Amino acid sequence: LNYQTARFLTSAPTLAQCPPDTGAEVAFAGRSNAGKSSAINALTRQKSLARTSRTPGRTQLINFFTLGDDSGRRLVDLPGYGYAKVPEAVKREWQQHLAEYLRGRHSLRGLVLVMDVRRPLTEFDQTLLGWADDQDMPVHILLTKADKLKSGAAKSALQQVRSRLREWEDLVTVQLFSSLKRQGIDEAGVRLDDWLAD
Ligand code: GDP
Repeated sequence: LNYQTARFLTSAPTLAQCPPDTGAEVAFAGRSNAGKSSAINALTRQKSLARTSRTPGRTQLINFFTLGDDSGRRLVDLPGYGYAKVPEAVKREWQQHLAEYLRGRHSLRGLVLVMDVRRPLTEFDQTLLGWADDQDMPVHILLTKADKLKSGAAKSALQQVRSRLREWEDLVTVQLFSSLKRQGIDEAGVRLDDWLAD
């Protein structure tokens, strides 16, 4: 699929306000500052489709992008999580919206989980993996900012994450990624194609 055709569709604060639940979509989740917006921009080869934010945690909306081919395929940017300065009550509310979205969205085919390769599998990353597992929802993990590590260290980080997720290996795939160096874009595209192909 040609992800370059992606364009902004709409933003929704809750599941109830999402666009019609038809067609097929892939959602991106990740801890604030992990590099999720940059990854979406790299995949779609656009400079600022998803907003890279200097104030992590500010984007609380679910943002929908449509592939501009009228095929009913969408990319979805979920709110980042884990930002320390967000009040506990607000965090809980987001987590509830995320859970609702994952549970209730029929057109959702898979979840891309973006993690900083230097700090993978935070507590909420693991919570999300558990929720995805409950729904038999496939997950593809992008270990991004791979350019921040030497190639040997990046490879061993990849192996470590793979071995920690062995119990979920039917549902979860993992790869190295770098938006900066444009590393891993084709590999990620293949996974998305799998999910979004009719
Ligand atoms: P988000 O909060 O998860 O959407 O994260 P952003 O995409 O806004 O990125 C957070 C910070 O990490 C920004 O300063 C980015 O420039 C930086 N960043 C994102 N991806 C990469 C990458 O692949 N390599 C490097 N070196 N920096 C990155």
